[in-house]
Amino acid sequence: MNATAAVAAAVVPAAGRGERLGPGAPKALRELGGVPLLVHAVRALTRSRAVGLVVVAAPADGVAEVVALLDSHGLEGKDIRVVAGGATRQESVRLGLAAIPAEVGIVLVHDAARPLVPVEVVDAVASAVRAGAEAVVPAVPLADTVKRVEPVAGGPEPVLDTPDRATLRAVQTPQGFRRETLAGVHAKALAEETAQDGAGLPPVTDDAGLVERFGGRVVVVPGHEEAFKVTRPLDLVLAEAVLARRRAADAY
Ligand code: C5P
Repeated sequence: MNATAAVAAAVVPAAGRGERLGPGAPKALRELGGVPLLVHAVRALTRSRAVGLVVVAAPADGVAEVVALLDSHGLEGKDIRVVAGGATRQESVRLGLAAIPAEVGIVLVHDAARPLVPVEVVDAVASAVRAGAEAVVPAVPLADTVKRVEPVAGGPEPVLDTPDRATLRAVQTPQGFRRETLAGVHAKALAEETAQDGAGLPPVTDDAGLVERFGGRVVVVPGHEEAFKVTRPLDLVLAEAVLARRRAADAY
């Protein structure tokens, strides 16, 4: 493996429009400590020496805006590219992947909504791929017991069963892949969708899920509690507290 193949590139799908944390800007542009979530997420990736390039998939009509945003937050010296994303997260990842030079052998995919992922997690995922895994996800054990239910709008919902919590993990990002593995499963998923006109396919909510769907092997490495996804308003409160603690620690 040559030196370039050993350096990873990261794709950040940030082309979603609809998602909102309550009223306000699209989620990736919501601010945490005065800085958009997307900027935090990109910065977290560029801090890793394992990552040589970050490709952001922006809304198709917002590419220039995202470039300006990244520049205005001091990221202009880094190797960052912004491409137009697609109609779905999956398509945005595929378009981001297509913008990565052919010689890059390891690709990470990271949610813009996980702004505080520690560099150790990014490094651990990249090094597990470098060590030979085709797909790697960082994950943490669950605090809550989980029940499978028969969904009923408005409930009450009958419980089907209770999986053994010791075997469950909550999965985070960045997820890491051998480039050919990720490109291969995205191409297969696209071919399936085209063949079936998109109908009847179970939704896949992460890239590792696509690898699983096509029979690949995914492994888990330890994630981190600070790599949580900012989804609900309370998550922003927690994220602000984590950031304030980090800034206070940096001041000493
Ligand atoms: O909408 P959802 O929660 O599935 O979005 C997950 C991630 O995928 C978000 O970061 C969003 O910006 C991104 N996305 C995208 N292109 C789309 C839809 C969502 O990059 N067309």
